[in-house]
Amino acid sequence: MSPASPSAARRVRMARVREAMASAGIESLLCSLGADLPWLTGYEAMPLERLTMLVVPADAEAVLVVPELEAPRVPHDDSLFSLRPWRESEDPVSVVASLVGKRRFLAVSDRTWAVHLLAIERALSGARFVPASRVTSPLRSVKDTAEIAALQAAGEAADEVAAALFAGEIALVGRSESEVSRELGERLVAAGHRKVNFAIVGSGPNSASPHHEPGGRVIQPGEPVVCDFGGTYYLGDTVGYCSDTTRTVFTGEPPAEFSELYAVLEEAQAKALASAVVGAPCERVDATGREVIAAAGYGEYFIHRIGHGIGIEEHEDPYMVAGNSEPVRSGHAFSVEPGIYIPGRFGARIEDIAVASVAGPIACNVSDHFLHVVA
Ligand code: ZN
Ligand code: ZN
Ligand code: ZN
Repeated sequence: MSPASPSAARRVRMARVREAMASAGIESLLCSLGADLPWLTGYEAMPLERLTMLVVPADAEAVLVVPELEAPRVPHDDSLFSLRPWRESEDPVSVVASLVGKRRFLAVSDRTWAVHLLAIERALSGARFVPASRVTSPLRSVKDTAEIAALQAAGEAADEVAAALFAGEIALVGRSESEVSRELGERLVAAGHRKVNFAIVGSGPNSASPHHEPGGRVIQPGEPVVCDFGGTYYLGDTVGYCSDTTRTVFTGEPPAEFSELYAVLEEAQAKALASAVVGAPCERVDATGREVIAAAGYGEYFIHRIGHGIGIEEHEDPYMVAGNSEPVRSGHAFSVEPGIYIPGRFGARIEDIAVASVAGPIACNVSDHFLHVVA
């Protein structure tokens, strides 16, 4: 088996998780739903009421407790974990409790359902829990080469949709936002995504609402349309990795007022991305973009952080936001997505995904930032 194989990568991750557990004194990791599980095992559990939980005791082999009917879907890897399927008549919480044994300092994955955690807490009296992200997040945020390749493939597929938008292949004027959203989603899948995660379409005044829910509004000539779309992409035998990009287009010649705003945004995006050098604090990326926008007088209209990490999850560490003084590390994958939103009037956003490297940021989205005039 080559060292670059997914299971070799997972063994490296498991070893690093165990090291991090040891240095934090954590006696067992309990991993239910969320991205930690596929990242460690290659298994994407369905979000069911039936408990799925990977138990990783610091001093014993890892065991994946899984509903019996789901067991056939688990990519089994004996070198990584053993499988403990539970029957419908069994209590999975007592299975987990017996694997945990006398260990009482436990890290539990952030997306574990409360109903499961509360039952586990009852079964393990005296246990102390910390969020598993304390262990997994710093590791998961640094992508390996296979993960970077998957993010780039996802970005390329999203760029195909942006290219169709720029070329006027996606009709806008006269259609509702939700119709356009549906087409963006279909094109994400046609370009190779397995799943559509979102396709925001905000037209006219709706472009001023960053997470606008596309609705029945019919797109008019002479207005901006903010399109923010992403899906999950599977490259080879990796688990799914996400794309996320935003492009703003204009249905007709934009007025000077809008072109000016857009030029500020473009400069903010470019400068913020360039500031994402290895070693710089994550918050500097946000501050760099924000300074450009504030200097042009739009400061109060940039109402969200400039970026988020991305990987198996659409939003994960590292967050590019004031207060995050963690340094940018080689392998960090994140969005840079400044926006300017003038309530009731119009807004715009430009978003790309990049991966930090010692040679500077590697772009996952390469479609251009011109303000395209489309119909
Ligand atoms: Zn967003
Ligand atoms: Zn984003
Ligand atoms: Zn986005």
